[in-house]
Amino acid sequence: MKSLKELIRPNIWNLTPYSSARNEYGGRTARVFLDANENPFNHPYNRYPDPLQEELKKAISELKGVSVGQIFLGNGSDEAIDLSYRCFARPGIDNVVAIEPTYGMYRVCADIHDVEYRPVLLDDRFQLSADKLLASCDANTKLVWICSPNNPSGNNMEREAIVRVLRQFEGIVVVDEAYSDFSTQRPFRLDIDSYPNLIVLNTFSKAWGCAAIRLGMAFAREEIIEVFNKVKYPYNVNLLTQRAALRALRRKESIERWVQTLTDERSRVMEALVKLPCCIQAYPTDANFFLARMTDAKAIYDYLVERGIIVRNRNKIALCQDCLRVTIGTRLENDELLEALKNYGL
Ligand SMILES: *Cc1c(COP(=O)(O)O)cnc(C)c1O
Repeated sequence: MKSLKELIRPNIWNLTPYSSARNEYGGRTARVFLDANENPFNHPYNRYPDPLQEELKKAISELKGVSVGQIFLGNGSDEAIDLSYRCFARPGIDNVVAIEPTYGMYRVCADIHDVEYRPVLLDDRFQLSADKLLASCDANTKLVWICSPNNPSGNNMEREAIVRVLRQFEGIVVVDEAYSDFSTQRPFRLDIDSYPNLIVLNTFSKAWGCAAIRLGMAFAREEIIEVFNKVKYPYNVNLLTQRAALRALRRKESIERWVQTLTDERSRVMEALVKLPCCIQAYPTDANFFLARMTDAKAIYDYLVERGIIVRNRNKIALCQDCLRVTIGTRLENDELLEALKNYGL
């Protein structure tokens, strides 16, 4: 790969970061805090939170098998996506390459930063071709976006194809593993040490059931995490979120139970759905949702909305004509969906 100095935007490479009051005294034991213009009353909300979330990162480190220095925490994975652009891609000059279809935020962020976005179509099994991805890269390609399991198709990208991109692309490869808890494929976050150009994204929003607290993770080699830390808002993860995440991490067993329940339900719902006349095909999935090709996605979507049931209409997305994306809910919710679809067209 190219050196980080070649890949990182020169203004970011040369940036002197904001030095927060909590950073400067350097971790020595302190009792009297008269440095940050806080109000001494209203404990615990009066104090700025830990800017580097050390206690939380220790807990995440044990759970995820990644060392503390290789972890970035942000306001959802969306913050890590945004930071990837801000650190690597020069507006109006650089470009990024991404699989298509995939998670919409990669493109929105590219547009926000005035960075050219180059989508590369997956094949009809929603698999990526390393050759096609690599052929779309040029000297100004800074990031390649791969989502696995992919949203909206639900499937894992083939591991060998991702490895080939990691080995042959000179810039940064971001592998978004938001749904890896639902998958049995070995997650790439365990291979951070093998790939100096790899950034892996994880989130508390899906398997962990914590979408409301807004906590996302990026795993990468320490030099990349240090750059993210330099560029992020100083107190980007608030105290309430840090505490809620620590509580969630103590309930690891219930998360494993949820994942089992949801993957069981996933098989049940998909098997029932493909038997209905309005469904043409349900695509294989490794996530807590699946993509289904319907006879008429728009009409079925409207029919479901009419009954208070909301799924995601992906009809207008590349390769997803007449497709609905269905999230697995509780057994009761899933039954409501199936019952409504059974009555569709009657
Ligand atoms: C849901 C999702 C996320 C999660 O984003 P957060 O900002 O962490 O809530 C990230 N990537 C993909 C592909 C997703 O589908």
